[in-house]
Amino acid sequence: MSNVPATYEGGCLCGAIRYRCEGEPLTLYTCHCTDCQRQTGAAFGMSLMVLREKLQLLSGTPVTYTKRMPDDGREKYAKLCGTCGSRVWVEFSVAPAVANIKPGTLDDTGWLKPIGHIWTSSAQPWVKIPDDELCFAGQPASMLPLIEAWQKRPRS
Ligand SMILES: [Zn+2]
Ligand SMILES: [Zn+2]
Repeated sequence: MSNVPATYEGGCLCGAIRYRCEGEPLTLYTCHCTDCQRQTGAAFGMSLMVLREKLQLLSGTPVTYTKRMPDDGREKYAKLCGTCGSRVWVEFSVAPAVANIKPGTLDDTGWLKPIGHIWTSSAQPWVKIPDDELCFAGQPASMLPLIEAWQKRPRS
């Protein structure tokens, strides 16, 4: 696994939105929930959790899509490019100190390797998750196990 660069930049597909982040991320995981499958149009989503204060918008003005979770009323604020539709990061009503970068929008994705997997109960049947990786069938009660596993991950 490659080490995390000191700063990392990314942007949307059309290039209107650019961002930069610095510092060690809190965690990186995949989500196999049906919302992520629909929202990405793919088998799963990926989330790179960072401190919101370390994330800087360099150009463009994201559009916000608010998704209210039916179970407990918490809200997610997806930051999207209004032109090309790329989702660049997500913020949370219950955790304003963090943001989840959608890491496929990074310029360099070579260092990304998820430390865990959530909502595996709705994973596509052909997705093979290694037995020794941290998995949650649904939404974890706390993100702490994913954060601790990221801190303890092997580094090169
Ligand atoms: Zn765009
Ligand atoms: Zn999800």
